Order: sequence, then C-alpha cells, then structure tokens
Amino acid sequence: MHLKSLTLKGFKSFAQPTTFRFEPGVTCIVGPNGSGKSNVVDALAWVMGEQGAKNLRGGSMADVIFAGTSTRGPLGRAEVVLTIDNADGALPIEYSEVAISRTLFRDGRSEYAINGDAVRLLDVQELLSDSGLGREMHVIVGQGQLDAVLRATPEERRGFIEEAAGILKHRRRRERTLRKLEAMQANLTRLTDLKDELQ
Ligand code: ATP
Repeated sequence: MHLKSLTLKGFKSFAQPTTFRFEPGVTCIVGPNGSGKSNVVDALAWVMGEQGAKNLRGGSMADVIFAGTSTRGPLGRAEVVLTIDNADGALPIEYSEVAISRTLFRDGRSEYAINGDAVRLLDVQELLSDSGLGREMHVIVGQGQLDAVLRATPEERRGFIEEAAGILKHRRRRERTLRKLEAMQANLTRLTDLKDELQ
C-alpha cells in the first residue's frame, strides 16, 4: 500500500485545484516559509477524518476553506481527495485503488466518499484503522510533535502503541457498544416503569 496522490481544491491556501503525485519511496515538499507545505500535511490528515480544528492549526473547521486573498474571493467549499494504491490488499476493500474524498461546505455540510460512493466518517475511519493511517494516527509527525512524544506520559505512550497494534479500533467499538447497551438499559427501565403504572 502506498499513497498515490493527493488533490486539494479550495483547501486552505490551495484555491486552484492542485494534485501531488507520490511515487513509492521518499517525497519531499520544499518551498519558502508560508508557501503552504504544512497545509498539504493538514489536507492529508483532514481527508483521513481529522475532526479537531486545532490539530489543523485553525480556530474552527470552516478555516480549512480558502478564505480569499487581495486578488481572489473566498470559496464556498474545500475538497480533498486521497488516492491510495491498494494492489497488495492492505486495505480491507475489493479495489486495487482507493480514492477517499472529503468535502466541507461553508454552511457546515460535510461529505465523505470512498471511490465515489457517499459514506459516513465512521466508514472512512474503519477502512483506515488497521492500516496505521486514520483518526489518532501517529504517522503524521508535525513540527514540535517529536518533543511531545518524548515527553508523553506512560498512558499516552501506551496509546501510541495500542494504535500501532490496531487495538484502539476494538476499544472504540467496545465503547460504542457499551453506549448502545446503556441506552437500551434506560429504555428497558422506562418500559418497566410504564408497565408497572398500567398494572
Ligand atoms: P513554514 O515553512 O513557515 O512552516 P509552510 O510552507 O508550512 O510555512 P503553511 O503554514 O502551510 O506554510 O501555509 C500558511 C499559509 O496558508 C499562510 O499564508 C496562510 O495565510 C495560508 N492559509 C491558511 N489557511 C488559509 C485559508 N483558509 N485560506 C487562504 N489561505 C490560507
């Protein structure tokens, strides 16, 4: 599995649709300060489901949409498409190439798609969760983050290892199931109360 390309349309400083093609091996993106190098990394995290505006260096999620410059007006939506070569079947899906896309509109509407089919954020997260990519990923190490890893508490370090080992996915599923069970229990209690009142 390797990342094949990343397309940004209206994402942060990339008003003009821009595609980065990656070959297997090391890719370097170079450019002057403020030219948008970190925005490319932000786009990668965003398309894989990042939900924290702060992690994307913004105040709110709408900050990822091109805000305009002195020569160009703001845009109404941001879109990022990540294409992954899945010839080795590392991702649990029957396609040798997988295109994940995420779109955010100014009115707050948000869309995700896998190979053109509309999906939920959860589907994207599940698809990526065994690949080492995805929500609480540690494959993207931002400026200053090495320091954070070195200073991590034992609990945080355990989190890194659990994510790498693919345990977090099961922990999240367990939490979701427990929440559903709690809701069921509350419904059951309410029904029992109603039944008692009727008798
Ligand atoms: P450095 O080398 O200093 O870390 P960089 O190349 O990583 O810089 P970025 O931080 O990726 O640069 O890009 C910053 C630029 O992106 C700034 O000029 C900022 O105005 C612009 N930018 C960020 N968000 C938006 C947005 N929503 N709309 C338009 N421009 C934006």
